[in-house]
Amino acid sequence: MAIFPVRLFGDPCLREKSQSIAEVDKRIRIFSVDMAKTMYDYKGVGLAAPQVGVLKQIITVDMGQDNYSVFVNPVIKEHSKATETDEEGCLSVPDVHVPINRYAKVVVEALDLKGRKIVIEADEQLARVLQHEIDHLNGLSILDKTDSKSRQKAISEFMENHQHEA
Ligand code: ZN
Repeated sequence: MAIFPVRLFGDPCLREKSQSIAEVDKRIRIFSVDMAKTMYDYKGVGLAAPQVGVLKQIITVDMGQDNYSVFVNPVIKEHSKATETDEEGCLSVPDVHVPINRYAKVVVEALDLKGRKIVIEADEQLARVLQHEIDHLNGLSILDKTDSKSRQKAISEFMENHQHEA
């Protein structure tokens, strides 16, 4: 069992596309447990593998009531026309919140930890978290998804908070 350090904005891992996972084996299952531990240790509601430096398509998402789900190779298959804008944060850009417009509802297809295909329909916070984490698998963060003014403000806030860290 391990808790990984979460990579921060500026880390090249966060700009890379993650590779799909060919086989959901024991290593992936153990890794997913460590990802979930890391997510909760950092008080997050979602985590994507590239945030811990692993460029593979796997995300963990808090489902409430101390439950989490793991999605391997998740893809948005369908989405609503309707969108919603809300403030969003990210463990890789700590203490910063920016407005992001997301699809109100999404249908996500993925594999579970037994390698079986699963389909999940999500709305509200879950839809938002899934879109956020899937963005990470494509090398995108909240700073790519917000408006340019919020982006500039967020980056200067982040720089100010982290200027003493190397
Ligand atoms: Zn994030």
